[in-house]
Amino acid sequence: MNTPTPHPNTSAYEMVIGLEVHCQLLTASKMFAADANAFGSAPNTNVGVVTLAHPGTLPKPNRKAFELAIRMGLACGCDITRLNTFDRKNYFYPDLPKGYQLTQDKTPILRGGRIAVTYKTADGRVISDAVALHHVHLEEDAGKSVHDADPAQTALDFNRAGVPLIEMVTDPGIRSAEEAAAFLTEIRKLVRFLDICDGNMEEGSLRCDVNVSVRKKGETALGTKVEIKNMNSIRNVQRAIEAEFARQVATVENGEKIQQETRSFDADTGRTTAMRLKETMNDYRYFPDPDLSSVLVSEQWIEAVKAQMPELPNAVFERFVAQYGLSDYDANQLTDSKETAQYFDELCQHTTNYKAASNWMTGAVRSYLNEHPSVSLPQFALKPAQIAAIIALTDSNQISTSVATQKLFSALMAQPNQTPLALAQQNGWLQNNDSTALETWIEEVMTAMPDKVKEYQKGKKGLLGLFVGEVMKKSKGAADPVRTNQLMTKKLEKA
Ligand code: ADP
Ligand code: MG
Repeated sequence: MNTPTPHPNTSAYEMVIGLEVHCQLLTASKMFAADANAFGSAPNTNVGVVTLAHPGTLPKPNRKAFELAIRMGLACGCDITRLNTFDRKNYFYPDLPKGYQLTQDKTPILRGGRIAVTYKTADGRVISDAVALHHVHLEEDAGKSVHDADPAQTALDFNRAGVPLIEMVTDPGIRSAEEAAAFLTEIRKLVRFLDICDGNMEEGSLRCDVNVSVRKKGETALGTKVEIKNMNSIRNVQRAIEAEFARQVATVENGEKIQQETRSFDADTGRTTAMRLKETMNDYRYFPDPDLSSVLVSEQWIEAVKAQMPELPNAVFERFVAQYGLSDYDANQLTDSKETAQYFDELCQHTTNYKAASNWMTGAVRSYLNEHPSVSLPQFALKPAQIAAIIALTDSNQISTSVATQKLFSALMAQPNQTPLALAQQNGWLQNNDSTALETWIEEVMTAMPDKVKEYQKGKKGLLGLFVGEVMKKSKGAADPVRTNQLMTKKLEKA
């Protein structure tokens, strides 16, 4: 990948990063209009007169959007603003049908708060820290310019115009690309657990602008910041920060000044390029929207939202440790995403062997999902009850764990309408625990290896494994190894 070569004096500098993260809220309708908030509709079908600010129309705040923002505030320990107002941010752009965006310039719904992050530094240290939030405000999204619909013209789709967003603005307290990536990963996880945003960066429901500056280590004053836009994955946010840090260090080392500007990240070249300078930046002429009255968030309203809060990832983690006796490591893996946690909870309603359930989730199921990135748990062919049925077969010694993980799992994936028991029967994978058959195999093995039997009886007890292995071969894996061990030992003592 194409990353600029770091300047030799890079280690004398520190990076300073602040993020602005936009999350599209999972409401049924728009922030101030009744049009549907839906991704993927035919262009310009969710566009009514309020979204276009036709004369005589009046916007009306979406109650649900407030509730979702308050959920975020409760999860991050923010102060919740009681008296909320909206301002017009005026600018001209083709995707902005009204000529202004409604946003909270003066009374962001949330102030303060923090999000805990754990990440590995480039030199391998594991750091647990918290990223401080400056504020979070509610606003409406703009429409979309579509450049690839027509070879000669730009098309406009206003379906997205007016979709509710929260913009989360951090303090400039992030110090590495790894920390920024961990913060975004944590936000994505959190919004999904909270059911406030689907967290999909490719579809743009979670977007991030990055502000980067550099300063000599030990300095306390902030350097001039550059804002970077257009990253569509967490990986690219990390790459953009690294590239921009390298560029700024090289610029300063060259004796030049950093220009305050907006730059764009190009994922193909791995570099940032200038978009516009501060001097040419818009003056947004913010002023309170005269059509909207203020929204009062009462104590009772906050209490009602609190009562409906979904379980937070940390609470699920602690419950998994307490309720299912999982190790911290397993509980951490199983709370990696809401879907995994939900699947596991459901699995544990069908089995009490929680350790086996955890092993299945972090083993076979996870491997399958890793190998098939287009499949996620909700589309996964096997339901929790089916995994539980496999666990029941191994717990009752009807099949061995190795047959279960190496054969039965993929057989069931191929024929998910069959029961695990039926498939094990059809394929002859049920362990043969019938003593007569076992005894016959054992006798055959002993007759075939008289010398080894003598050696065993003279004290070379390690040969037991060889005999058992031979029986397993004869049974084509159907013999229960534990039972074979017991019977074999008995026969050898007697012979
Ligand atoms: P603006 O007025 O340009 O919008 P703000 O002060 O509102 O700037 O900050 C916007 C974002 O930029 C915040 O996330 C903040 O943490 C970050 N930021 C501000 N100054 C710096 C800086 N010198 N270096 C890096 N990030 C910064
Ligand atoms: Mg700002």
